[in-house]
Amino acid sequence: MILTPEPGPAAPRGLCTDCGVSRMRDAKACGRACQFIAPDYPRLERAAHGEVPPDEDTRFFGPYRAMYRAELVPAAPGAQWTGLTTALAADLLDKGQVEAVLTVVPDPEDRWRPRPALITDAADLAQARGMRMGYAPLLALLEEATAQGMTRLAVIGIPCQIYALRALEAELGLDRLYVIGTPCSDNTTTENFHQFLALLDEDPGSITYLEFRADYRVELRYADGRQRLIPFLKLPISDLPQDFFPLTCRTCVDYTNRLADITVGYMGGQGDQWVLVRNARGAEMLAGLGDRVRLEAPGSAGRRAAAVKGFVANTAAAAGGLPLRRMPEWLRPIVSWLQPRVGPRGLEFARARVEMKAAETVLHLRRAAPARMKNMIPAHVWALAAQYGLTPKPGETSPPGE
Ligand SMILES: Cc1cc2nc3c(=O)[nH]c(=O)nc-3n(C[C@H](O)[C@H](O)[C@H](O)COP(=O)(O)OP(=O)(O)OC[C@H]3O[C@@H](n4cnc5c(N)ncnc54)[C@H](O)[C@@H]3O)c2cc1C
Ligand code: SF4
Ligand code: SF4
Repeated sequence: MILTPEPGPAAPRGLCTDCGVSRMRDAKACGRACQFIAPDYPRLERAAHGEVPPDEDTRFFGPYRAMYRAELVPAAPGAQWTGLTTALAADLLDKGQVEAVLTVVPDPEDRWRPRPALITDAADLAQARGMRMGYAPLLALLEEATAQGMTRLAVIGIPCQIYALRALEAELGLDRLYVIGTPCSDNTTTENFHQFLALLDEDPGSITYLEFRADYRVELRYADGRQRLIPFLKLPISDLPQDFFPLTCRTCVDYTNRLADITVGYMGGQGDQWVLVRNARGAEMLAGLGDRVRLEAPGSAGRRAAAVKGFVANTAAAAGGLPLRRMPEWLRPIVSWLQPRVGPRGLEFARARVEMKAAETVLHLRRAAPARMKNMIPAHVWALAAQYGLTPKPGETSPPGE
């Protein structure tokens, strides 16, 4: 069964990705749940994961106990990558560990629009597979789950949703909660995303799949089975409006879903998926898939420093717009060819993206909402941005203990 009740209306908020909390009975819960107000990552990380011994990648990716390059075998049809994310959730339903999975499915009118859903049959998770662009009031359906008497749930979500979920977890009255997270960056409204598709193809309605791959290409798939790869540097970025990406997603402080039990993405996977097991519950979920999942140590190659420095300089120069590369047209195809061969790859690519996002957070908030910096930027973001000369100015951090 797939339940997709219409959530109540959203309350007006400033920086907000409509995670669903403002649509719940206690809309004021946003004040203690929101990633964009005063997040407390250290406290929630300790509550979710316990004390995790740090290693050299903890500062980039958050606490984790194991990290893999991974692949579901065989890959699930319709999945964004191999379908590991939805397979983990389906296995929990199959084994009776949870009564429902809270996730998003495509809106029946628009395949790119995410619609929150409670799924109770493992087979129905096939309908959740794939990526949609936009915001879904996922957490509003926690109230539907409670109304149905459900106390054992799994949630699949992006970082801003999972932050709010963890912040409210103790109040939800659940007996068991499994949290499967994906990384997330550069999200935008479904309406804006349709504009982007229209720039990529004269028949945007025929595009069924889009991914920003770690080999510096965008992959498109079409309803008739065609595939097209577009190098990043050939994307029509300069034709997009300056505010294409909302300030929320340009200043988001958690790329890798630090509070999930397990994070499933691709950017450290060198063409495969990338998995971070953060706690015992994450390990239990991964073990549940047995030999359906192929795991190996993640690789790393290239050096990120120059790429990140260039990105930071471009972002600063773009003054709040999209970072445009000042590069002659003729040079673009050559650089596009070179990037996947000599640029950072595997974990080094993931570290580069995490550092770029930290720098963006500081630069965009400093320009657009400086009063937010003090409470909104966690220490882990400042530590990454500092490598590129972005350190707090007076008033941009809270005094210890405040
Ligand atoms: C906007 C966005 C940006 C992303 N950026 C990155 C990135 O930069 N680096 C990276 O490694 N990974 C990123 N991801 C995650 C990546 O796209 C894949 O979801 C992930 O690799 C899992 O693949 P899979 O085959 O295991 O997933 P599948 O088994 O296909 O399942 C995907 C799951 O994601 C859920 N989902 C899809 N769209 C949304 C949405 N808009 N909001 C909430 N949940 C959604 C689906 O409901 C489903 O449960 C992003 C995801 C989104 C939604
Ligand atoms: S993102 Fe969620 S918690 Fe934050 S203001 Fe919006 S609805 Fe509230
Ligand atoms: S980029 Fe950050 S704020 Fe935007 S949707 Fe993704 S997790 Fe939420």
